[in-house]
Amino acid sequence: MSAQLDLFATGPAAFDAVELVAAQDFIIVNLSGGKDGLRAAVIARDTAVRAGVEDRLWTVHASLGPMEWPACTLNGVRYPSVGELAAEHSRLLGVPPERHLELRRHRDGVPYDLLTFIAQRGDWPWLGPARFCTGDWKTKLIYGAFSATVRAFVKAHGRPARMLNVLGLRADESPDRRKRKPLLRTTENTHRIVDEWLPAHAETTSFVKDWTDAGSWPHHWAYDSAPGAGDWAGSSRCSCSACVFSNHRDLLLAVARRPRLAALYAEVEYARGIPFNPNTTITALIEEAARPGAPDPGVVLDDNTPDFDALQTAVRAALTLPPKRKPRPGTGPGTLPPLGGGCDGCSLAGDGLLLLEEL
Ligand code: SF4
Repeated sequence: MSAQLDLFATGPAAFDAVELVAAQDFIIVNLSGGKDGLRAAVIARDTAVRAGVEDRLWTVHASLGPMEWPACTLNGVRYPSVGELAAEHSRLLGVPPERHLELRRHRDGVPYDLLTFIAQRGDWPWLGPARFCTGDWKTKLIYGAFSATVRAFVKAHGRPARMLNVLGLRADESPDRRKRKPLLRTTENTHRIVDEWLPAHAETTSFVKDWTDAGSWPHHWAYDSAPGAGDWAGSSRCSCSACVFSNHRDLLLAVARRPRLAALYAEVEYARGIPFNPNTTITALIEEAARPGAPDPGVVLDDNTPDFDALQTAVRAALTLPPKRKPRPGTGPGTLPPLGGGCDGCSLAGDGLLLLEEL
């Protein structure tokens, strides 16, 4: 058993981060463009410097294409997409450009996006096995990107490559993430030994925001009430604009900020008859976001890009075919109202509530 495995045996709290990092052949830092990935990346970078192995540091952004927050221009100022910001974070960390990878799934030579897969399958990620959006669209993609490098390493060194997968997940984010171990061996075979490290796991949301501001690290515009506001009063998270696991306010902001994306989600939801999220439908969110009292989006994007057009074409083509998964009981085509079909103004007025005048 290696010294590292002995350290694991004493529990995650006991491990020495410098010793952990020094033992790696590849330190792979996942940068989403969000604040937590950046915080974890800085801890990993600083630890790698102390261990004298900063040349083994790689940064990776697994892109979800038009589903993640894009760039936007407001008052003549351009604010970067999450992919562009991830590359900028990598540069600020001192990682050379050749060790920053932006990855995106492709099929037949063209981008293959998560929403197309959802439309084909007829299930949203919250219903699917093991959160396929992060598994297949992120973890497996990154794993595959290093396959050739790992094969060459095994041939040259006659042993498996040691890889550290650094993620920005924090206990503060959700009950599920609270249960995650800060250090976990995820793979051990003849080619690679992979440990997952969450260096910012114990840090609070307010600490990470304060740390980001104190260090003048750039944060994504989606976090703010409007691009450039710098007030952290926008979306609480930053990856897919409309994440199936997001809180209600974030989703209202997302559908208001990206109406074209929201409408495409609604097409998938309606055609497949499966709600976007266990607590609500995207259709209900679109309607709620348009009512008085909904959060001010601060900016509304037109999503008028060739990449978005290609996504829309692929999604609509997928919806012409039967879903790959049999609809679950109570779901399926015809079980959800279309966009605009969920308005309850008439029935409420019939109950004697003159809500339309109040609107
Ligand atoms: S942001 Fe949400 S929907 Fe998008 S990949 Fe992550 S968990 Fe899945």
